Amino acid sequence: MAYIQFLGAAGTVTGSKHLINTGDLQVLVDCGLFQGKKEWRERNWQDMPIPAREIDAVILTHAHLDHCGWIPRLHKEGYRGKVYATPATIDLCGVILPDSGHLQEEDADFHNRQKSSKHNPALPLYTLEEAQDCLKNFIPVAFHTPTQLSPKFSFQFVHAAHILGSGMVEVSVDVNGATKQLVFTGDIGRVRESNGVAPGKVVRTGPETVDGQPTNVLVMESTYGNREHPKTDARPELARIIRETVNRGGTVVIPAFAVERTQKLLFMLKQLMEDGQIPKVPVHIDSPMAIKAIEIFIKHTEEYSDETKALIAKYGSPLKWDNFNFDTTSEQSKKVNSMVYPMIIVSSSGMVTGGRVLHHLIHRLSNPKNTVLFIGFQAPGTRGATIKSGAPTVKIFNLEVPIRAQVASIEQFSDHADTPELLQWLHTFERAPQVTYLVHGEPSASTLLKAAIEKEMKWNVAIAEWMQKVEVD
Ligand SMILES: [Zn+2]
Repeated sequence: MAYIQFLGAAGTVTGSKHLINTGDLQVLVDCGLFQGKKEWRERNWQDMPIPAREIDAVILTHAHLDHCGWIPRLHKEGYRGKVYATPATIDLCGVILPDSGHLQEEDADFHNRQKSSKHNPALPLYTLEEAQDCLKNFIPVAFHTPTQLSPKFSFQFVHAAHILGSGMVEVSVDVNGATKQLVFTGDIGRVRESNGVAPGKVVRTGPETVDGQPTNVLVMESTYGNREHPKTDARPELARIIRETVNRGGTVVIPAFAVERTQKLLFMLKQLMEDGQIPKVPVHIDSPMAIKAIEIFIKHTEEYSDETKALIAKYGSPLKWDNFNFDTTSEQSKKVNSMVYPMIIVSSSGMVTGGRVLHHLIHRLSNPKNTVLFIGFQAPGTRGATIKSGAPTVKIFNLEVPIRAQVASIEQFSDHADTPELLQWLHTFERAPQVTYLVHGEPSASTLLKAAIEKEMKWNVAIAEWMQKVEVD
């Protein structure tokens, strides 16, 4: 019996891990970290239902931690197979996975110092060195290149248009002499027709149509199964917030995810400056990972959106733009704290859970001239959510920092298709899949998307459950 088993991203948006078992081969599509609530994070420490060494291959859709962040742990548990991914995904994993290992080590150290773990000593899920070590098993696979893992199993990547290097995986397996087509969407980017409402998209917009032979099983993400992104252009609002802050003599601090979100913002800032919409104040990009991500981005010209191609042709690499400063060392970062003239600081982490942005906020939050601008989702319980909620203070390190700065947010930056866009993409299927399983969504989002697909497409849809096995026949 061939089956798919959902080992993660079922009932939640993190921990993506789907096992395909064909009888002769066991392949994982994605191998992500569980993040967020403790009950989910604890699953990072649980054993897999099959030993790691018995897994034959991992196919990775993209370089977000909730899709790739458990690979070093799998390796630590004895996995010695290959990890297949697109070249840009591999480059990004080369930055993201060691950084994740470093954070795991810091967490364990913290718990050991505070004696706040029930484990003594608290151990990291994996170390920086272990993360680096597993990268040698990564094998680049270009888009649209069928790759045979066994005579009965092949796969190829098609563009998902989510982040740099992101792909959907089309799998062909032979089950009792018949070829079955399985499609795993990974995360789905904004659809092409929404170009006007997803301005600044740095990689291609529009997930590709999955065609060829009919799909037997579609495993689809549902993050925004209950949401519509605002349809207005983000640029005028962004320009207004920056102009007003600069006129007050203040600084705009923008917490941003290092990969994709920061790059998208930089291109938008450059364009607004060149068009005379905002003053050419200094921009400080203070996130070593964001800087490395820009270098990787510049290398992969094949992934650019038309807008990005035009911008780079006109202005060159962001690393060479006048008044854009890339602060790599912590000395450079600290120097920014003493600068009092108006500027824009872009720093991670995006939800203010850690990273250099904490220092910038300690220095800027208490001054009403400044603005903190959020351009990404702030998960409940994070400092970002506290600041955004209008709280009078926020705790950073052991300081209770008063929030007197202006707080603003722009919601248009998402790299995920919203519900109308997901449905629009489904309409590109020539024939309905035999069955569609929804993963990677909070229960409310998956439930609403299921209802929307049933109503609009009349498809057979189910919501995947954690550890559920579904037969491929
Ligand atoms: Zn993602």
